[in-house]
Amino acid sequence: MYSCINCDAEVEELYRRYSPSVLKVLKCKRCGNLADKYIEYDPVIVLVDLVLLEKPAYRHLLYNSNFQSYWKLMIVLLLSETFRVWPTSDSSKNFDSNDFKTTSFEVERSFYILLAYTGISLGAFVVAVIISTEIRWFITGKTPDKYKASHLVRALIVGGCAKLLGLLGLVWQHVAHDSYYGLIHGYTMLYMLTAYSVVCESGRRDSLLGLAAGLLAHKYVSSWLSSFTQELNATSI
Ligand SMILES: [Zn+2]
Repeated sequence: MYSCINCDAEVEELYRRYSPSVLKVLKCKRCGNLADKYIEYDPVIVLVDLVLLEKPAYRHLLYNSNFQSYWKLMIVLLLSETFRVWPTSDSSKNFDSNDFKTTSFEVERSFYILLAYTGISLGAFVVAVIISTEIRWFITGKTPDKYKASHLVRALIVGGCAKLLGLLGLVWQHVAHDSYYGLIHGYTMLYMLTAYSVVCESGRRDSLLGLAAGLLAHKYVSSWLSSFTQELNATSI
């Protein structure tokens, strides 16, 4: 089953093909609008509407498109976030540039450790969001018919793509880091809120609550891993 991008109703088919060059987009029986206008659009326009936080574009991507490379997006996100944090991390500061005994292997090792930490922290974020959402469904007893945890994971991955803007800061070194990354974090939250509200069919308040649990888990796990690394370094000296 597909989904109407306007009212979120389930539709059996999105278009009918009358000939190789003639295709007619069908209307939704509930709202009367075209069930998915993006079928005829260029992917770039879909991307622009995603950037503009248009909910219909999210419904198209999550429910009606053939896009399945979410795991590739996740790997790109993990690598980019690690690469962004790496220069300022404690592990990279431990190396003395004049110490010729510091091998490239050790430098790379610090990157892979940070990559694992980033993966664990983001994993904690996703698990906490899913658990808090399931608890909310359990308490309210109003689980949306179409809700699946896999859809929520996909929505969070798509929402996390706003973090890729952080890579631009590595290219444009003149950008003030704190204010720049503050804007990116804010935009990422809006991105995730939109994706979360589409999958969970919830308002801003419920979406914020769901994501807040994930952010708390991410903060806690990140700080625990950081203190764990410092203790490990202290004992190894
Ligand atoms: Zn509709």
